[in-house]
Amino acid sequence: MGVAGLCEICESRAADHRCDRCGTIVCLLDYDAEMGLCADCAARAKPDDRRGDTFRL
Ligand SMILES: [Zn+2]
Ligand SMILES: [Zn+2]
Repeated sequence: MGVAGLCEICESRAADHRCDRCGTIVCLLDYDAEMGLCADCAARAKPDDRRGDTFRL
């Protein structure tokens, strides 16, 4: 628990992770531990994303 505050995605649970990409603090459910990203960034970064835009840092 290194992050204080409320999850910036669902705004209903305590945040305990920080996204490596956008810095958003998110709760466990809105965090992709495998990628180290918030659900938002993880969705964009997925290799099976079909919108055709390249993920860049
Ligand atoms: Zn959340
Ligand atoms: Zn993010």
